[in-house]
Amino acid sequence: MRNPLWSRRNRIAGVAAAVVLAGGAAAGPVAGQQDMSQVEIETVQLEGDLFMLMGRGGNIGLSVGDDGAFLIDDQFAPLTGKILAAVAEVTDQPVRWVLNTHWHGDHTGGNENLGGAGAMIVAHRNVYRRMNPAEFADVVGRSDQAARAALPVVTFADGVTFHWNGRHIDVTHVGEAHTDGDVIVHFPRANVFHMGDTFFRGRYPFIDVDSGGGVDGVIAAANLVLERSSGGTRIIPGHGDLAAPEHLRAYRDMLETVRMRVASLVANGRTEDQVVAAAPTSDLDGVWGDNPERFVRAVYKSLSGT
Ligand SMILES: [Zn+2]
Repeated sequence: MRNPLWSRRNRIAGVAAAVVLAGGAAAGPVAGQQDMSQVEIETVQLEGDLFMLMGRGGNIGLSVGDDGAFLIDDQFAPLTGKILAAVAEVTDQPVRWVLNTHWHGDHTGGNENLGGAGAMIVAHRNVYRRMNPAEFADVVGRSDQAARAALPVVTFADGVTFHWNGRHIDVTHVGEAHTDGDVIVHFPRANVFHMGDTFFRGRYPFIDVDSGGGVDGVIAAANLVLERSSGGTRIIPGHGDLAAPEHLRAYRDMLETVRMRVASLVANGRTEDQVVAAAPTSDLDGVWGDNPERFVRAVYKSLSGT
């Protein structure tokens, strides 16, 4: 349902303090045990019936219309009630689809609640595998076994397109990036992308090498979106505020710079600890400086194959 009076930024839950977004590494049980009672869901309107929801954990995309609500990611289980309240502010239709951008718990934590309530959960097949270690022990990193209702019921290999609420919603798997199951979601008519955790606006990414991620895939994901962007493109990052192509371009350039520096250290035979000690990001940390060591280690591991 459209609401012409809907303000561009409307705080659903009143006047609580600013929300501090959880770090990308804070997936799963640790973050899930945080107190969610003070979290509020902020709704950012992108078009009449297309929204970004921000709370705790990965940013959510929301398409509403006569067909039903379509969610991209669902944060943590204790937030499902607040997320559904935010959805109900803009539509009287139920959540019919949940698309997961990857398996991390700060993006899939609401799956069990929403799947149990009848939503169809869709994700890349590696998301299903990583959430289901009982069946796929070969690919397991740090994931716990998900409840049956939390598992995707539809999976795909390369991509899928939804024709829903009068939109074509294009979903593309981007290979080994933040994990091995990341997708980028494109709303062509709205000129909006949701990049999941292949994009952390304004800070170093978390690259989950243990889940099949790698720096080259993160760079490729950024390039894919930049190639399809125009001046008016808006990009929902996995974490951080709504972004424009210029923010993604700066992020891509930073990634390429660090990749080049670490690659040259690797080529010179440096060990992982020696690469960290060489501080290859020292001139960048002032801008991007959220945990450079973790980032540098992930880049090293991606390039050295360790
Ligand atoms: Zn993630």
